[in-house]
Amino acid sequence: MLDADFFRRWMTATAASVEREADRLTALDSPIGDADHGSNLRRGFAAVTATLEKEAPDTPGGVLTVSGRQLISTVGGASGPLYGTLLRRTGKALGDAAEVSEAEFATAFRTGVEAVMTLGGAAPGDKTMIDALLPAVDALGDGFGAARTAAEQGALATTPLQARKGRASYLGERSIGHQDPGATSAALLVAALTEAHGD
Ligand code: ADP
Ligand code: MG
Ligand code: MG
Repeated sequence: MLDADFFRRWMTATAASVEREADRLTALDSPIGDADHGSNLRRGFAAVTATLEKEAPDTPGGVLTVSGRQLISTVGGASGPLYGTLLRRTGKALGDAAEVSEAEFATAFRTGVEAVMTLGGAAPGDKTMIDALLPAVDALGDGFGAARTAAEQGALATTPLQARKGRASYLGERSIGHQDPGATSAALLVAALTEAHGD
């Protein structure tokens, strides 16, 4: 079973890996965006970990809704409301249970990813974070390690795609040949699940 501490570790591990990879995320956002993805997420997840220490929510749902709210209010770019919605809606779907099973988390995470698709209007293949998140959700039934691999492969597979959503879509065909920064950070978020779990 997964308790509030697990979800706290997930957010802390994500913050650490975003911090480590911030320059790479910003570099990926340079040719097909406005070179701020790393700094956007670094600021957002630093605020998340600070808030979790202060508020100390004691349920999985509480940890994720507080984190999502914090991302929405601190990250100005497109990714803030999108990741914020992902975490908030996943958290809401978990309700106020003290512990949730991996299967319950997988179902809730799918609800969160679907909310991101509704909010941003992106479908698979549009070269966005969805291209890492949706394969991860589909693989979650096989465990966190499988989800991580699926997300990493999904992020790599955005390179040959033409962007149809977000800033990168303004470039049309010139967006082809670059890995999507949001899909790359989504893979970090999913990878952090394995760290939180100790796999
Ligand atoms: P901004 O583009 O506002 O500067 P960021 O650079 O932080 O925001 O985030 C860019 C990432 O957000 C993109 O690489 C993409 O993965 C994701 N993104 C942008 N628009 C959408 C959307 N409509 N749906 C899903 N993801 C999106
Ligand atoms: Mg950007
Ligand atoms: Mg921006």
